[in-house]
Amino acid sequence: MLRECDINEISDGKRYQANDMVKVGCNDCKGCHSCCEGMEDTIVLDPYDICRLTTCLGVTFPELMQGRIALHVEEGLILPHLAMSETTGACSFLNEEGRCSVHAHRPGICRLFPLGRIYEDEGFSYFLQVNECTRENRTKEKVKNWINTPRLKEYEALILKWHNYVKEMQVFLSGREDAKEWNMLHLQMFFVMAYTSENDFYEEFEVRLADMRKRMLL
Ligand code: SF4
Ligand code: SF4
Repeated sequence: MLRECDINEISDGKRYQANDMVKVGCNDCKGCHSCCEGMEDTIVLDPYDICRLTTCLGVTFPELMQGRIALHVEEGLILPHLAMSETTGACSFLNEEGRCSVHAHRPGICRLFPLGRIYEDEGFSYFLQVNECTRENRTKEKVKNWINTPRLKEYEALILKWHNYVKEMQVFLSGREDAKEWNMLHLQMFFVMAYTSENDFYEEFEVRLADMRKRMLL
């Protein structure tokens, strides 16, 4: 979730890039799953997250909407997030052993934690959220190994494109009477319409983004 806050209050004051070392290693989270609980609507999902979950689990977006994910509105734009159970407060993918049942396909924000992203100078860097993971004696890991996402350059480019699109769309929707229709189109184009596979994702995303931008200009 996008937050407006003083970066120096929540971080160690440093910016990190994919090849930098950062103190995030937490012994495979053994015995802890606190960042999979009580997260409300903060684990926001992007199109790649939805592609990963739907294609790897063999489910559709509407099927995920049955308790796995939910929708919220950010500055007029509808976005999906991981749903937390109303009874336990935990993510529905957290299994009885307190482990992530979709670890290999988990969303980008789960992969990042306790890193965050800061968008500045038309790009983004990673930063360490110092008040989040409470595990002591964390070890140093390379950022790219921590995120552990294939085709990292393309993935980072996607993150930036998606961030820019979301900001653009929020401005575009502001004060429009037909904002609901546009939101439905946005959901359909980027989330509901199935992606073929994780491999084809980037190509399919580019086509959809170009199509959406074209429609916004009409
Ligand atoms: S709080 Fe830290 S140790 Fe606990 S699950 Fe999250 S990242 Fe792992
Ligand atoms: S998807 Fe996995 S890592 Fe992410 S919050 Fe749910 S259980 Fe935790």
